[in-house]
Amino acid sequence: MSTAYDLDRKHVFHSWSAQAEITPMVITAARGSYVWDDEDRRYLDFSSQLVFTNIGHQHPRVVAAIKEQADRLCTIAPQHANEQRAQAAELIAGLAPDGFEKVFFTNGGADANEHAIRMARLHTGRFKVLSTYRSYHGGTQTAINVTGDPRRWANDTATDGVVHFFGPFRYRSEFHASTEQEECDRALAHLRRTIEAEGPDTIATIILETIPGTAGIFAPPPGYLAGVRELCDRHGIVMILDEVMAGFGRAGSWLALDRYDVVPDLITFAKGVNSGYVPLGGVIISDPIAATFDHRPYPGGLTYSGHPLACAAAVATIQTMRDEGIVENADRLGREILGPGLAAIAERHACVGDVRGVGAFWALDLVTDRATKAMLPPAALNEVVAACKSAGLLPFANTNRIHVVPPCTMSDDEAREGLAILDEALKAGDQHVG
Ligand code: PLP
Repeated sequence: MSTAYDLDRKHVFHSWSAQAEITPMVITAARGSYVWDDEDRRYLDFSSQLVFTNIGHQHPRVVAAIKEQADRLCTIAPQHANEQRAQAAELIAGLAPDGFEKVFFTNGGADANEHAIRMARLHTGRFKVLSTYRSYHGGTQTAINVTGDPRRWANDTATDGVVHFFGPFRYRSEFHASTEQEECDRALAHLRRTIEAEGPDTIATIILETIPGTAGIFAPPPGYLAGVRELCDRHGIVMILDEVMAGFGRAGSWLALDRYDVVPDLITFAKGVNSGYVPLGGVIISDPIAATFDHRPYPGGLTYSGHPLACAAAVATIQTMRDEGIVENADRLGREILGPGLAAIAERHACVGDVRGVGAFWALDLVTDRATKAMLPPAALNEVVAACKSAGLLPFANTNRIHVVPPCTMSDDEAREGLAILDEALKAGDQHVG
């Protein structure tokens, strides 16, 4: 093991981990769809790290933009205007539907959601936040309370006015639905009841991931988001769509909401906006909410809001994604390679209960019994992950699932190479079936 490993284990306190039980891989280099470890082993990155390197690793145009900006002006406080920040805001607002002109910059996704919720509360003068049980919105205090996944349990202060409800998820339906339409109708009826029971006039906002990611990558049925929009309109509730993971090409569209007929009031982003080359996130604000703060100070901010290096990386990322057709590549990759490839894999492996996704955003739901949908236990999932890694593939694993979330730049041959490794590795999962 290298010095980096020893120093890491001695001094670095890792996220979401029991510190004595982890053996982090030392990554020393990365390029395009690949990363290398400290023994010079190469891995195909089917994880995009934490689903953020949408443009691939070390894209030369983004690296050059950061270097150029570093030479010119490393940093400037948020109260000043700056060319890269202004240009990034213009480009990002330009990706939202009409009626969104302003962007508030943060350092990542959690703080983007914190600020979106704060804006919604100040705009409505109400406090409660509705969010789904199957969601992840970030690790800071309000964001983790709003999150549904079990990582919330240890953090929940129960003081944030958050009320959870179930969104639609056909494969593991809470609503015993047998069609997409039924799932949609019943999920909307459940939300309607939740709003009534909580008191519509107490609810500031409903926050949803456009396509829930960490919780399992399940696109909402057609009509669901429009139905939520209608409920928000009826009761004066602010609709926040969290595009932190699903946005910037991941779902094969610039924003995942482009796939739906819906216009929210606030859109949060991070990750793919500049592929995490320098931390950046933010809130795209609809004009009426932005107007709330025309003559009333917005009570919030961050020292590094709109950091010039991060914004230079965002400008270069968006322009490069446009010039190189990277969003289109993710869409095509999903339709022509990943979707059909994963469907074929599912036919060969009894441990695959469900395949779902779009663009460069796919999940395999692994089970020990297809009929009962009993989840593959963590130890068995670890065996699948270990088999992937030893064959040179880095997957993203969560609960009982493998997420196939490669860079949006991935070539067809690379995707086929990764699918072949995954196909072989899933034999470890099949051992646990029945
Ligand atoms: N929202 C969603 C949908 C996410 O997937 C994540 C992170 O995975 C976040 C928010 C939090 O982002 P960050 O870790 O940058 O704070």
